[in-house]
Amino acid sequence: MKLVFVTNNVNKIREIHHAINNRIELLTLNDIGFLGYIPEMAKTIEGNAVQKALFIYNRFNIDCFADDTGLEVEALNGRPGVLSARYAGEGCSFEDNISLVLKEMYNISNRKAIFKTVIALIHSGKLKIFEGIISGEILREKRGTQGFGYDPIFKPTGFNNSFAEMSLDEKNKISHRAIALGKLTDYLLPFLQ
Ligand code: IMP
Repeated sequence: MKLVFVTNNVNKIREIHHAINNRIELLTLNDIGFLGYIPEMAKTIEGNAVQKALFIYNRFNIDCFADDTGLEVEALNGRPGVLSARYAGEGCSFEDNISLVLKEMYNISNRKAIFKTVIALIHSGKLKIFEGIISGEILREKRGTQGFGYDPIFKPTGFNNSFAEMSLDEKNKISHRAIALGKLTDYLLPFLQ
């Protein structure tokens, strides 16, 4: 089976390859020669995932899936949420986003947060949604150098290490994206020969 993963994010591609273990032939946007911009203007994580998948499906008429992820912090009323990528402003870095969250959380004792991934799949003309959520807490300072994004300040519940202190293997066993991806591969399994 061939599926386009609507991303050029090398970290996500690495994580997903690892999780699906070559059971599906994954193409990226580069592979299909799409170098343009895909709008992400929805107000929800799910809306953005659907928007990205539909954009590529409508243009290339090819089975594809898109994911969208957000960090939702309880004490920040769910922020950064759908704005996770550009929380500190357009063109900001992971560092800028982390600094802003740590600053906003400076005096806050409720550190509860979740990571949420929504995958929108378009397969044989049908749209399917898969969600993965992991609960955890926002650390008071960065820990670890692995991973990407908010990984250094997110510690999943029941673990001593932040995501950035875990190997890809460890993160992939429990992460939001791994959970959503597990649901996606379970769904696709009957279609694989
Ligand atoms: P995206 O829209 O799915 O690319 O994700 C939005 C933002 O969430 C990214 O720019 C990252 O900052 C963050 N993010 C997504 N996935 C992860 C993850 O697995 N760990 C940490 N941060 C993530």
